[in-house]
Amino acid sequence: MDWNDNAEQAAFREQVREVLRTQLPEPYRDLVLLTSNNNRWDEDRASDDPARRADAEAWTGALSARGWFAPQWPKEYGGGGLSPMEMFIFKEEMARAGAPPVGGQGTRQLGPTLILHGTEEQKAEHLGGILSGRVNFRQGYSEPGAGSDLASLQTSAVRDGDDYIVNGQKIWTSGAHYADWLYVLVRTDPSAPKHRGISFLLVDIKTPGITVRPLINACYDHEFNETFFEDVRIPVKNRIGEENRGWYIAATLLDFERSNVDGSVVCRKTINELAAFVRTDEGRAKSTLDVQPSLRGEIARNYIETEVLTTSLSASSACRTPGRCRTTRRPSPSCSTRSCSNGWPVPARACSGSTRTCGTPRTSALRWVRASRAVMCGPRR
Ligand SMILES: Cc1cc2nc3c(=O)[nH]c(=O)nc-3n(C[C@H](O)[C@H](O)[C@H](O)COP(=O)(O)OP(=O)(O)OC[C@H]3O[C@@H](n4cnc5c(N)ncnc54)[C@H](O)[C@@H]3O)c2cc1C
Repeated sequence: MDWNDNAEQAAFREQVREVLRTQLPEPYRDLVLLTSNNNRWDEDRASDDPARRADAEAWTGALSARGWFAPQWPKEYGGGGLSPMEMFIFKEEMARAGAPPVGGQGTRQLGPTLILHGTEEQKAEHLGGILSGRVNFRQGYSEPGAGSDLASLQTSAVRDGDDYIVNGQKIWTSGAHYADWLYVLVRTDPSAPKHRGISFLLVDIKTPGITVRPLINACYDHEFNETFFEDVRIPVKNRIGEENRGWYIAATLLDFERSNVDGSVVCRKTINELAAFVRTDEGRAKSTLDVQPSLRGEIARNYIETEVLTTSLSASSACRTPGRCRTTRRPSPSCSTRSCSNGWPVPARACSGSTRTCGTPRTSALRWVRASRAVMCGPRR
């Protein structure tokens, strides 16, 4: 195996580093991204403080100038048209520098899904807002009774003329308090088999009848929310794809969500920071390492897990670029030849085994790091 960049990849990596060195606003340097700083750009974008808004705008401008605000979108839609391997390098460098993610779920998840499944009108209405950083989309999938078994969701949408009337509750809606729009799964046919009665709607969060309530996590951060829908009227034109076929749109979106290279880098950084912290006086005072020696092994195990995650993602990204497969040094037919009509690789099935297993942001390392921070950091004041 050859894990080194080739000349082309090394040159691209240098371009990304150069932008980070010269244009990343000072307050965005080396942020710890696992908790609320993950939302730093979102917070700044909407801040009352002009200096914070200026930071968000400056970083948005620097990235947009190169098409890197939505680096994975095809160029014809205003993105960077980066290959999977370039995306890997881009995300790796951004995460290493501690730069805050920008564009949220609009650039990473909803935009690419709209490009594949939206109508021309829907693309025209939404892609520009996402690309300019003005419009922030968040995800309304999970419900109190529908987590792992997502297809059990009960939020209902009943057709009434040109609208659906939506009632129900979503949970774990990350960043809904920064959101302008949500993408939401709703049940449109309660009598159909559960995967087949679901539709995918875009919802303006200011629509009357929507209430967002904070859920404070174990680190005393406000990341999650509960989102309630009470007789919310959503235009039928906001449905992506056919009625009752939303499950398949949702699955496409989740494939985009799972390519979480930066998550693996951030996990490793956070473990390094945790290890550095427990060597400080404050860390020694708070740490339980002396009374729980097995924790050392756990830190090592989780460090190894992040290494495996990063290298697996690197290999699967390379596999999706014809001629660049790092494991076989030649294109893998099963991985590299699948693409949608415009030549954009379809993440849904490309290298599906490793991408699904390794790319998920819900790794045990991530959960463990979050829990460790809660134990080590104590309540945030
Ligand atoms: C960081 C983070 C951000 C999130 N952001 C969002 C968001 O923005 N929007 C959103 O909609 N959701 C979000 N979620 C929710 C998430 O995607 C899932 O809904 C949630 O992780 C799983 O649902 P649950 O909590 O109800 O757990 P459950 O489904 O109740 O699962 C609990 C446990 O039971 C196990 N389990 C479940 N079913 C089975 C089975 N059949 N057999 C064996 N074991 C089983 C699971 O593996 C798990 O260990 C987020 C989650 C996290 C961790």
